[in-house]
Amino acid sequence: MIRIGCHLSSSKGFMHMGQEAVSIGANMFQFFTRNPRGGAAKPLDEADIAAYRAFAAERGIGPVIAHAPYTLNACAAEEGLRTFARDTMRDDLRRLSHLPGNFYNFHPGSHVKQGTEAGIALIAEALNAVLPDAGETTVLLETMAGKGSEVGGRFEELRAIIDRVEHAERLGVCLDTCHVFDAGYDIVNDLDGVLAEFDRVIGLGRLHAVHLNDSMNALGSHKDRHACLGAGQIGFPALLGVVQHPALAGLPIALETPNDLPGYAREIALVREACGA
Ligand code: FE
Ligand code: FE
Ligand code: ZN
Repeated sequence: MIRIGCHLSSSKGFMHMGQEAVSIGANMFQFFTRNPRGGAAKPLDEADIAAYRAFAAERGIGPVIAHAPYTLNACAAEEGLRTFARDTMRDDLRRLSHLPGNFYNFHPGSHVKQGTEAGIALIAEALNAVLPDAGETTVLLETMAGKGSEVGGRFEELRAIIDRVEHAERLGVCLDTCHVFDAGYDIVNDLDGVLAEFDRVIGLGRLHAVHLNDSMNALGSHKDRHACLGAGQIGFPALLGVVQHPALAGLPIALETPNDLPGYAREIALVREACGA
């Protein structure tokens, strides 16, 4: 049984997301910890979380991926923005302690003309400040498309961040198929080579989750525009190759394709059918 799901709206709480997941054939899901624009998080509803935990255990749902607001920038040039990113991440991690054993995924950041090296140092600094509050949550650096001054478009950049982090045992990576393709890693013609490169540079042991997206743009375009499975330049066979690759067996797979719920249900069914799971 593969672990597959999609990004869901968290506005109606965990129990609602769990039920939605079941209704579309998912057995994992992802959600934004708060409004992607970075506003205040809703107060924690402990009854909702308790009900969800019982439901998830009974229905075999999990793990969940909590996605940080994508507007956070841990390596912003302005100190105030960096502090905001750090405080938000710490608050998110404390809240996630109510759902132990899951993932917190974030975009490393954009160095905005400070240079990749400086960006890497600032991201590591932020992680060193918040990881002591991670509890049993594994924090995931997402592989990025390398759009603008984004850090994390090269595996080497993620490695450099990990190398500077003290509690690196709490740190992993989430591989986004659209992002790595846009960053120039040819998962269509050489998936084995890309994963061997990932293993050499970062180590496959750090890989904890996959974002399964097609890409509207070409290999190396550095664009980051997601497409539905099979509707982009990666194509369904190559995406299926990722899902079925033995090196990635058992990893949770989250769709972030431009879909409504019925669309997600169709894509999940398509993937499950194609791999008989
Ligand atoms: Fe993301
Ligand atoms: Fe993603
Ligand atoms: Zn993206």
